[in-house]
Amino acid sequence: DPLVDPVAGSDELAFEGALRPTSLAEFVGQPKVRGQLEVLLRAATIQERTPDHILLAGPPGLGKTTLAMIIGAETGRPIRFSSGPAIQHAGDLAAVLSALVPGEVLFVDEIHRMARSAEEMLYLAMEDFKIDIMVGKGAGAASIPLELAPFTLVGATTRSGMLPAPLRDRFGFTAHLEHYAAADLERVLSRSARLMDVALEPAALGELARRSRGTPRIANRLLRRVRDWLLVHEGSSDLDGVRAALELYDVDEAGLDRIDRAVLEAIAHRFGGGPVGLSTLAATVGEEADTIEAVVEPFLVREGLIGRTPRGRIATPAGLRHAGVVTQDATLD
Ligand code: ADP
Repeated sequence: DPLVDPVAGSDELAFEGALRPTSLAEFVGQPKVRGQLEVLLRAATIQERTPDHILLAGPPGLGKTTLAMIIGAETGRPIRFSSGPAIQHAGDLAAVLSALVPGEVLFVDEIHRMARSAEEMLYLAMEDFKIDIMVGKGAGAASIPLELAPFTLVGATTRSGMLPAPLRDRFGFTAHLEHYAAADLERVLSRSARLMDVALEPAALGELARRSRGTPRIANRLLRRVRDWLLVHEGSSDLDGVRAALELYDVDEAGLDRIDRAVLEAIAHRFGGGPVGLSTLAATVGEEADTIEAVVEPFLVREGLIGRTPRGRIATPAGLRHAGVVTQDATLD
């Protein structure tokens, strides 16, 4: 179900682009990261140099691409987009780097997926703004040094642990983005609602924020569905609109979708609260084990609904309650 997928669909780019904040001041939440970036960018501007290379680490949908664009905008520099999967050979990277104009911001999304052969080239480029290009083969091979325009690399990664240490160390600053508190998501939503020309009452925004899994991308996506619902059901209250639209699209009051609930309910009911192994669980709910491990479980674990143990997945007391199992706590009170 794409509605609560933190990764953007290809049809969403225009919609998302229209909602992107364009300055640090407009960027909601993440006060620590905002404060850190502000100092870093101001200092570079005062000294009239390119800002240090910046690594943006954190789960999808929390604003890494947005921040990269803000870094360009705040320093008045152009930005060029690339991504780890697009850099499969050192030559791919050489082509990108040699085309940079002085001071440009180079954004490399999913930088942990870049080819190993390109990484070595990137080390030298980040340190000295130069690369060595290999020409020819065998005995006639030669390396030709090439000076690059000074640039700022902004790397984004959902897996900072997968970056090799030498690459991680070459970033002057790493920003760690965290999931958003409901109050911050409410601010994201109220800003988006204004841009989309829908006025939602605070209670409706609060309800939407609580169901958005701490993720601005999901909040904006749910808002779009609610806007449609309210358009079609003229005269109903905003809060009813949120509740009815999200029920229609199978997003429950804690932000769980159909698959999340299927996983939680399987652990709670079919396996008596667990532990149960991943592959058994996957077969039971009819989903790929990879999807469950990468998309479903991190959220359920973060919400304290399930736990991972060496013997398998278990439902926590909160998870059992969410799945409608009456736990001992509940019988006591
Ligand atoms: P990422 O690159 O981390 O996957 P994006 O930067 O593409 O995430 O953000 C996804 C969507 O969420 C965009 O539409 C963006 O406008 C919105 N968004 C993300 N962070 C914020 C924020 N702090 N304030 C307002 N909107 C945000």
